Amino acid sequence: MGYVIEGETGEWEMVIGLEVHAQVISNAKLFSGAATDFGAEANSQVSLVDAAMPGMLPVINRACVEQAVRTGLGLRAQINKVSVFDRKNYFYPDLPQGYQISQYKQPIVGEGQITLDLPDGDVRTVGITRLHLEQDAGKSIHDQSPTETYVDLNRSGVALMEIVSEPDLRGPEDAVAYLRKLRSIMRYLGTCDGNLEEGSMRCDVNVSVRRCGSNDLGTRTETKNVNSIRAVSQAIEYEARRQVGVLEDGGQIDQETRLWDPNRGETRSMRSKEEAHDYRYFPDPDLLPLELTDEEIEAVRRTLPELPDDKKARFVSDYGLSAYDATVLVAERVRADYYEQVAGGRDPKMAANWVITELFGALNKAGKDIGDSPVTAAQLGGLIDLIGDNTISGRIAKDVFADMMETGRDAAAIVEAKGLRQVTDTGAIESAIDQVIAGNSEKVAEYRSGKDKLFGWFVGQVMKATKGKANPAMVNDILKAKLAG
Ligand code: ADP
Ligand code: MG
Repeated sequence: MGYVIEGETGEWEMVIGLEVHAQVISNAKLFSGAATDFGAEANSQVSLVDAAMPGMLPVINRACVEQAVRTGLGLRAQINKVSVFDRKNYFYPDLPQGYQISQYKQPIVGEGQITLDLPDGDVRTVGITRLHLEQDAGKSIHDQSPTETYVDLNRSGVALMEIVSEPDLRGPEDAVAYLRKLRSIMRYLGTCDGNLEEGSMRCDVNVSVRRCGSNDLGTRTETKNVNSIRAVSQAIEYEARRQVGVLEDGGQIDQETRLWDPNRGETRSMRSKEEAHDYRYFPDPDLLPLELTDEEIEAVRRTLPELPDDKKARFVSDYGLSAYDATVLVAERVRADYYEQVAGGRDPKMAANWVITELFGALNKAGKDIGDSPVTAAQLGGLIDLIGDNTISGRIAKDVFADMMETGRDAAAIVEAKGLRQVTDTGAIESAIDQVIAGNSEKVAEYRSGKDKLFGWFVGQVMKATKGKANPAMVNDILKAKLAG
């Protein structure tokens, strides 16, 4: 059961489908050899094909095709051995050809699946309708002159994968989980870097609402310009509530394209929804149907890495981790690799605790990515080993870790330099205990007359006297014996 909106006249459910445009990681464009570097000087990466000079012909970039197949396989989807490039005709200053080369009736990838990892540790499967290849358009720049619009064609012709979900999502949390998972899979595969801020992953949000219990689909709106995970969640929430308001007032929803305004936190109407026939789709006569052989598809399949779902299952079964911890660790490949390096030959749950709670917590605070963690996996492993062989206690280890985050030094070096080595010498611990007992005869009497709770206080005094360095288990045992008298 998803997220419910309480209306004036009853409860409503959201129905959401996402269309994601993912920029293919490729050195060259979909139909030309021009470069695709982000942030290059305007119009410096434009071939004659991208500028739609008369007589120029597109040539398919096989590397982009392979990336689409790779992504399709990662989404457990049907790969179509024959697909067709169509022209989608519309007129806009940043589209010099007057059409976008896209795929319409016969996309390269058909139905697939994606597993959502929900916040409570549950999973749910969402259908993928299709994935097709298409070119990106250029970019109109309106803010450099009060009277003129400039056009930058660097993006013109860049390969995009449009990935369409089934209307299987039931709330903002589902949509966020979907985007995170899709991005994670594409990053594992190396097919899209999933950077929403740089626009290498863009999302259109389709939303409708229906009364709880109904199985019919309501009329949907499509909201564009949703450029961050937070915005997706806000736009869905806003749009669903707006629709409930309209319907409860006796109105109806127009099937339209809306725009998300991040400053005002609302969607507004942009245009009535165009129909497919408005685009006058037809197969591009400059391009042959795209054909793939079973061998080509299998060759790509053989190079797939272990993907997040499989890795998660392995972390749960081999390391005994909870589904939640495994989900957190496999979300990014660098995290998972880091964890496995720490866990190797050590207690895997203890390793997971240190990585998730201490390391991720500290990195988060420092605003750092795991890629530039001051503490390497080998160094964190070294710290855990010092706890394991009783050189330091778990308590002291946290201080040592804080120092490692600051200075990048090895745990052993910090322990030596600061004299933090745990006291496991029975004589030294006994003498500290004797002093505490001698100096607190009243408390000792209270304890001996039945006030058991004082035991913790005694432990605290002994630890204080040893600057936290006494082995806690030994303190417990010896203290118990001595207090017993
Ligand atoms: P178009 O190409 O016109 O945008 P599609 O059939 O490709 O239409 O669907 C676009 C998206 O809209 C898909 O993600 C689909 O799941 C979603 N969708 C379709 N019907 C509904 C609906 N009634 N409510 C919410 N989302 C829907
Ligand atoms: Mg669409």
